[in-house]
Amino acid sequence: MSLSFHIERASGRARVGRLVTPHGEIETPVFMPVGTLASVKGVPQDTLEELGAQIILGNTYHLYLRPGVETVRRMGGLHGFMAWPRAILTDSGGFQVFSLNELRKVTEEGVTFRSHLDGSSHFFSPESSMEAQIGLGADIIMAFDECTEFPADRERMRASMEMTARWAARSKKYFEEHKTEVPWARVAHVGTAAPGCPAERSSAGESSDFPTLAAKGAARMGHPIPGDATQSLFGIVQGGMDRELRRESALRTIEVDFPGYAIGGLSVGEPRELTREIVESTLEHLPADKPRYLMGVGTPEEIVEYANLGVDMMDCVLPTRAARHGLLFTSEGKVSIKQARYAQDQGPLDPGCGCRVCQRYSRAYLRHLYASNEVLAQVLNTIHNLSFYLDTMRRVRHSIRLGEESRFSSSVWSRPEP
Ligand SMILES: [Zn+2]
Repeated sequence: MSLSFHIERASGRARVGRLVTPHGEIETPVFMPVGTLASVKGVPQDTLEELGAQIILGNTYHLYLRPGVETVRRMGGLHGFMAWPRAILTDSGGFQVFSLNELRKVTEEGVTFRSHLDGSSHFFSPESSMEAQIGLGADIIMAFDECTEFPADRERMRASMEMTARWAARSKKYFEEHKTEVPWARVAHVGTAAPGCPAERSSAGESSDFPTLAAKGAARMGHPIPGDATQSLFGIVQGGMDRELRRESALRTIEVDFPGYAIGGLSVGEPRELTREIVESTLEHLPADKPRYLMGVGTPEEIVEYANLGVDMMDCVLPTRAARHGLLFTSEGKVSIKQARYAQDQGPLDPGCGCRVCQRYSRAYLRHLYASNEVLAQVLNTIHNLSFYLDTMRRVRHSIRLGEESRFSSSVWSRPEP
């Protein structure tokens, strides 16, 4: 067992499902907080667990540059390294290479780029992206794709989509040949042996420190990982803003055959109506029985909207990044906590929110922390925004189970917890 997906209830196009990974079950539709550098900025892992985060994201590009894949691999993969027992997904590095690097050079073979840290030259290909993601050891990893820029003409969108299709096949081939090399495959073997058995430990890894760390990681995980479990590789549909190219990309990606499919290349500067139109038309071409992941969106309103369209997984830096800039999402709308009007406001940030920040602190205090540039401002703001996003998805799942379409409105937030 590496991944299974069951739809438990559908309502219109929306569905509630259960995605089972080697590191736990995920209720879908799910929002995945972004932990770029093996850290959801400002939020400790135990707090993420308390907030109900079921799966988080890591960014391969950033982790490859720092601390490096080999370091993470020797620590038992991202789960052991960051002491996160639940599921993880990594991106392929493609999007970051395309969005962060002006000095990149793309060929059929792959992408040469410069590190944003020290300017050193690096190369990513479908094969090296798979190698990196296998070393990082997330439960779900992504095929290496080219994210087409916006705007782009049709010839450019077609050429880019076709290369992504060829890269998908190369990603799958490399993954199938190397998937048993995931670091926790060996953790699983240590975990199923008698604890502390020296013979098992010495046979589990080539370095003397690895098995101990890996065993500690396995102990923290709290549940056994099946010995034959591997990662799961998802394909990515591209095709720019052209519905026909999106359809063709979907068909070609499905032909390669993945256990899940992502819609990539959106939220790259196009108008929101166009994003919705492309999502809606692309979803029609994806298999109904496989998880569908919409990459890099969106606002609270948008994640509700996309879940209603039948998207199962979403991620976005918005709640965490906005929080660090003092922009908070609440059931009463957006709050810019830096504003002077909150200086003596004794009320909670969001009266409709049950998070530990809203239960304990006043708007006046949060405003003071932000104005004083206290580190705690970023921590508390991020905890609230993540709580708001995760609660939103919880309510969306509840609505789908009840057979209702969920709307982003204050009435949604006043419903009792499922
Ligand atoms: Zn809150």
